[in-house]
Amino acid sequence: MLRCACQRLTAVPRQQGRNCVDTARLFSVSASRRADFTHAVIGGGVVGLAVARALAERAAAAPLSSASSSAAPASASSVLLLERHSDIGTETSSRNSEVIHGGLYYGADSLKTQLCIRGRQLLYAFCEQYGVGHRRTGKWIVAQTPGQREALEKIHAFAQSYRGGRASLEDDEVLPLRWVAADEAKRREPAVRAAAGVLESLSTGIVDSHGLMQTLLGLFEQAGGVLAAGSPLVKITPLGSGGSGGSDDDAPGSRGWQLHVKPADADEETVVTAETIVNAAGLGAAAVHNMITQRDSSGNSNKEPPMKLYYAKGNYFSYAASQPRVTTLVYPAPEPGLGGLGTHLTLDLAGRIRFGPDVEWVDDPTNLAVNAAQLPRAIEAIKTYLPGVDASALQPDYAGMRPKLLPAGGVAKDNKAPDFVVRSEPGYQGWVNLLGIESPGLTSSLAIGEMVEKLVYSS
Ligand SMILES: Cc1cc2nc3c(=O)[nH]c(=O)nc-3n(C[C@H](O)[C@H](O)[C@H](O)COP(=O)(O)OP(=O)(O)OC[C@H]3O[C@@H](n4cnc5c(N)ncnc54)[C@H](O)[C@@H]3O)c2cc1C
Repeated sequence: MLRCACQRLTAVPRQQGRNCVDTARLFSVSASRRADFTHAVIGGGVVGLAVARALAERAAAAPLSSASSSAAPASASSVLLLERHSDIGTETSSRNSEVIHGGLYYGADSLKTQLCIRGRQLLYAFCEQYGVGHRRTGKWIVAQTPGQREALEKIHAFAQSYRGGRASLEDDEVLPLRWVAADEAKRREPAVRAAAGVLESLSTGIVDSHGLMQTLLGLFEQAGGVLAAGSPLVKITPLGSGGSGGSDDDAPGSRGWQLHVKPADADEETVVTAETIVNAAGLGAAAVHNMITQRDSSGNSNKEPPMKLYYAKGNYFSYAASQPRVTTLVYPAPEPGLGGLGTHLTLDLAGRIRFGPDVEWVDDPTNLAVNAAQLPRAIEAIKTYLPGVDASALQPDYAGMRPKLLPAGGVAKDNKAPDFVVRSEPGYQGWVNLLGIESPGLTSSLAIGEMVEKLVYSS
């Protein structure tokens, strides 16, 4: 395991050591040269960690590239990762199914498909390179009715067309899928019922999400990044006039960003500055967004309505019985508009079965108690594909919270399911905003890191 140390943000030395940012840079960030940090990432979940690691490694590599150039030597830039809790990854990133998804469900032109496929490829390679626990389990999507079979056929057709019609499964890492014949299904997983067919995703797997996050943190710190845990961001101000000029040089954020941090037990705020910011605050991302766009009297207007997130809790149930035995992940056919993939069967790395998550819309994102009243519905759903399940061995386990961009049943303007938002926020300089990073955010995390790095360095 790589070194992992958390530190709290107390005071930040200006213009000292690796936080010094007063000399020329090789990249195109053009904000204040007197900021405490080059980049500040808000949110220490798996996505914030992946972004912070990508930015820190890029920064650490910059002086090397300057060696072969006649340009002025680049300073070591610095990356700050702010996390409100005393440890990283205690919210959504540690309350999920830990599945490395294939990328089957989100449509051809969605960011979710693109980042999930790229993220999966990067994640398998990363796990092998750094010894993070993972397993290619494969996954069955099972149909019980003709309607569900049709849903599977649509997924199969989508995968085929996304792969350009190529049939080969062995050498195609994009979306390898195959139909499992009834006799093969009976032989491999006799306990699983699939009356109308089984579609198998060969690239699906599971990952130790905690091991992944600790490794990302270790790499981030090795590259010189600074984690400030126990450091909630309470206010953020873009520097720059944002006034009449209307040009990028004049945009809010063009002179950097001022971040106010106030731990619950502190009397005063600590203020640090950064040239660019990345909002990777997960369930808190709308609040961070609104801190910027809904500023008040100090010269800034509330031009846009506040951003709002909706919350869909997913309850999980553990399974204490050793029978029936199942060795692959089993998902029901997807139901459009459900808000999740249906109560499925997943395995942990020790081979233990768990069921979930269901979908329960709630108002309070901190309401993470498992709702035991959901158990009868979960049992009903599980029995459709695992009729031999021992209902008495199911126990409430844990719950996770999906940050949704639309309320229950909501579809975007173009009639599509809501996509990830990963963008340089228009009208500002040096602000990359991540919103609605629900599933498959764990799978996509390394690809999101890669994408944010490109956005930051091309802005
Ligand atoms: C039930 C469920 C099942 C899922 N299953 C899967 C799966 O199997 N596979 C998959 O790929 N994805 C899955 N996902 C999605 C995946 O878990 C998330 O997309 C991913 O964890 C999001 O990571 P994040 O870093 O964006 O958010 P988070 O993990 O929520 O991290 C955000 C961090 O920001 C911090 N923060 C917030 N506000 C502030 C502030 N003001 N100041 C400082 N820090 C702040 C929070 O404390 C938190 O640590 C699932 C999600 C859920 C809910």
